[in-house]
Amino acid sequence: MKNQGQFSSKLQELLGPQGVVTDPSRLARYCADWSGDLAGIPLAVARPADTAGVAAVLRLCAGEGVPVVPQGGHTGLVGGAVPSPSGNELVLSLERLDRVRSVDPVNFSMVAEAGCVLETLHCVAQEHDLLLPLSLGAKGSCQIGGNIATNAGGVNVLRYGMARDLVLGLEVVLPDGRIWNGLRSLRKNNTGYDLKQLFIGSEGTLGVVTAAVLKLFPRPTQVQTVMLGLDSVSAAMGLYAAARRDLSDLLSAFELMPRGCIDLTLRAIPGLRDPLPTPAPVYVLMEASACGLVDLAELTERFLARRMELGGILDGIVATSQAQAADFWRIREGLVEAQHRHGRHLRTDVSVPISCLPGFLEQADAELARHLPAALPVVYGHVGDGNIHYNLLPPKGLPEAEVHALLEQGEALIFALVDRFGGSISAEHGIGRVKREPFEQRLSAEDRDLLRALRSGIDPHNRMSPGRLFA
Ligand SMILES: Cc1cc2nc3c(=O)[nH]c(=O)nc-3n(C[C@H](O)[C@H](O)[C@H](O)COP(=O)(O)OP(=O)(O)OC[C@H]3O[C@@H](n4cnc5c(N)ncnc54)[C@H](O)[C@@H]3O)c2cc1C
Repeated sequence: MKNQGQFSSKLQELLGPQGVVTDPSRLARYCADWSGDLAGIPLAVARPADTAGVAAVLRLCAGEGVPVVPQGGHTGLVGGAVPSPSGNELVLSLERLDRVRSVDPVNFSMVAEAGCVLETLHCVAQEHDLLLPLSLGAKGSCQIGGNIATNAGGVNVLRYGMARDLVLGLEVVLPDGRIWNGLRSLRKNNTGYDLKQLFIGSEGTLGVVTAAVLKLFPRPTQVQTVMLGLDSVSAAMGLYAAARRDLSDLLSAFELMPRGCIDLTLRAIPGLRDPLPTPAPVYVLMEASACGLVDLAELTERFLARRMELGGILDGIVATSQAQAADFWRIREGLVEAQHRHGRHLRTDVSVPISCLPGFLEQADAELARHLPAALPVVYGHVGDGNIHYNLLPPKGLPEAEVHALLEQGEALIFALVDRFGGSISAEHGIGRVKREPFEQRLSAEDRDLLRALRSGIDPHNRMSPGRLFA
C-alpha cells in the first residue's frame, strides 16, 4: 500500500491545502454513499477546484499506480462512489467544480461544471425562463457529474428522456490525465461515433466528467398536478395510455403508488396528509405541463371528466396551488426516505416493457407471497417508463443473517421474473458494486468482449473505479 502521508503531501503540492481532506472528522462523509450499504477507507480525498486540477490528480495517480474513484453528491444507491475497504483508492470529489460557465437561451443550453448540484441548475435555468427537466428525489444533493456518470432518470423521463438524452457535449479527464474536450453544443452532429455517449452511464470507470453542455427547454408556465385513486394497476396503465394521447403528449410524469406505499410514507414522514378523502387500492400522481397558448387546465379537466365516466378512477384531486402540488410530490419522494428509516431492505429499480407491467406485478406479488410471505413488498415507480421499484422490507427484529438470506432470495426471485418479461435489472440506479454479480451473470460472450475492449482501450491499467460495474 502507498505511504498515505507522502501521497497526501504530493496532492497538497498540486492542489493546495483546500484541495485535500486530511481532517479525520471530515473524512467520514467521503467513505460511504447515501445507501449506507457499503463503506470504505480512502487512501486520500482530493478536492480539485477546476479541470486542470482534476487532470493533475489523474496524472499523479497514473504515475504512482493509484486507483481513483470519482465522487459526486454521494446519493448513488449502489456503492459506486464508495472507496474499497483496502485503503488504496483515492476518492476524487468534484464538489469544488461548481460553476455554471454559460447559459445560451437561443441554443436552449447551458454549460455547467460536474460538481453543480442539480437543484442549483434548476434555479439557474429558471432565472433565464428555461427548464432543465432532469429531476429526482435527490436533487438537493446529487451533482450533474454524478447524474451523467449514472445516466440518471427521474420523474420527467417519459417526456424529456434520461441524462443521456439531455447532454449535448462533455468535457472529460481521461485516466492518464489528458483532457478530452467534447464540450460542443450542436443539436446535430453526425460525424461517426458519438464519443460522449461512452462516458454517460459509465459510472466513473472510463474517466472523470468535469463539465457538460446540457439541453434546456422552454419553462412551462402551466402545470397540472393530479393525484388519483384507482381500483387496479390495469386501470392505471389504461389511464397512462389514454393520457399520453388525449393530453397531446404534454404528460411529463406518471407515478404509481399502491396504498401500502402511502401508509408507509405517512407513518414515516411527519407533516404529510392522506392525499384523498377515501383510501384507494392504487394511486397515480400525474403531471402535465405546457407553455404558450394551450389551455392546460381546461384540457386536463375534460380529460379527467371523460376518464371518470369510463370507470376505474375512484377519486381524484387536481392541485389548486403549488403548495398542494408539492405536498403530493413529498409523498412520492418521501418513499425512499421512509424505507431507509425501516433499516436494511431490498431496493430494486427494474424495468419491463410498459404494457407488461400489470402481468409482471401480478406474478411478482404471487411468487413473493408464496416463497417469502414474511417480507413486505413496497412497490412503486415511474411506470410511464416501465420502471418499477419492487422493494422488500424484512420483518422487524429478524436476525441479520436471516435478513441477508431473505433479501438475497427476494432479489433472485424478482430478477428471474424480470428476465422472463424481457426487462432490465437496473433501469436507473446503475450497477456500481452492489449489482455487479447479477449484471455479469446476464452478459453474453459478445457483451463481455465489447465491454472489455472499451474499458481496457480507455483505461488499460484498470485505474478508474476498479471492481465497479464489471470485473
Ligand atoms: C432519495 C433518492 C432518490 C433518487 N431518485 C432517483 C431517480 O429517480 N432516478 C435515478 O436515476 N436515480 C435516483 N437516485 C440515485 C442517485 O440520485 C443518482 O444515481 C444520481 O445521479 C447520483 O449522483 P451523485 O452526484 O450523488 O453521484 P455519486 O453517488 O457521488 O456517484 C455515483 C456514481 O457516479 C460516479 N461519478 C460521480 N461523479 C462523477 C464524475 N464527475 N465523473 C465520473 N464519474 C462520476 C461515481 O464514481 C459513482 O460510480 C436517487 C437517490 C436518492 C438518495
